Amino acid sequence: MNAPATTDTSSAPASPDLELLPRDLEPYRRGNTGIDWVHRFDSGQPGPHVLVNALTHGNEFCGMVAATHLLDAGVRPLRGTLTVSFANVEAYRSFDPARPFESRQLVHNMNRIWSPAWLDGGEDSPELRRARELRPVVAAADHILDIHSTAQDVQPFWVYPAHARNGDAARAIGRPAVHLVMPQGLGSGTPLIQHGLHGTAGHHGVALVAECGQHFRQATGVLAIEVTLDFLAHFGLVERERGQGMPAAPAQRFELLQTWVVQDPAFRFVRPLVGFETFGEGELIATDGAREVRAPCPRCTVLMPTRQPIVGREGVYLARPLD
Ligand SMILES: [Zn+2]
Repeated sequence: MNAPATTDTSSAPASPDLELLPRDLEPYRRGNTGIDWVHRFDSGQPGPHVLVNALTHGNEFCGMVAATHLLDAGVRPLRGTLTVSFANVEAYRSFDPARPFESRQLVHNMNRIWSPAWLDGGEDSPELRRARELRPVVAAADHILDIHSTAQDVQPFWVYPAHARNGDAARAIGRPAVHLVMPQGLGSGTPLIQHGLHGTAGHHGVALVAECGQHFRQATGVLAIEVTLDFLAHFGLVERERGQGMPAAPAQRFELLQTWVVQDPAFRFVRPLVGFETFGEGELIATDGAREVRAPCPRCTVLMPTRQPIVGREGVYLARPLD
């Protein structure tokens, strides 16, 4: 569904190896919250309510790996409350190995619709219906880990709104070592981690996206489990040894300056990009029909360049290095 209308695949990038594949989530459908694919465990002890959310994008399987790990291993919080959710299961179930990037979403990008305008609005789609179901789940959480992965095989990184509470937590957790900070949000919609109070300066809660690596790599699922357990340990819900596999490098931070949304089917980069390439100020990065995408700052760093441009979806994120 919603595939770009094209029969010419000669210019499409080669499909990656599919080391990670979907598994049947039907056994996880019935949780204990009255909402399908949402499971909640209350320790009975005081402490924060932490939400671990998977599959905001249907083909980002590492979150599914981490969430099913928590459920299969019977991980229970020592304090506070743990909620585990699978978000866009409908898109996930549409996965076709011949078109592995198509099941990211069915209609709407489920990570751009967490504003009252969308959630209370009159439009309908599988993603809007599911987001409306999950709205109380997201709103109830003190702290949120939203687990994602990337189309290209690049180093893992955090993404979060520029509240000190988020940066402090991401630094303390330690990995991934790379941070993408969003001072003005995404510029292309409201992500899950900015829903309601989580998008406000005065809130106490931490809300982070972890981009754990390329969608279909085994290592991405392994990292997602590690980051999830580290996140839970940071808030005292589980105990675990720290320091294993931690990066020696200090945090490397980038600030998001601009999200370029594709306007023209003829969008193309000046050369093949995978992410983390840098451009000098004013240098041409892509053309979007008659428009030019140029680096807005020195050492401009591109993140998440699209594999296949689709009009109305993000083409590339432009960031500047901090520190
Ligand atoms: Zn994603």
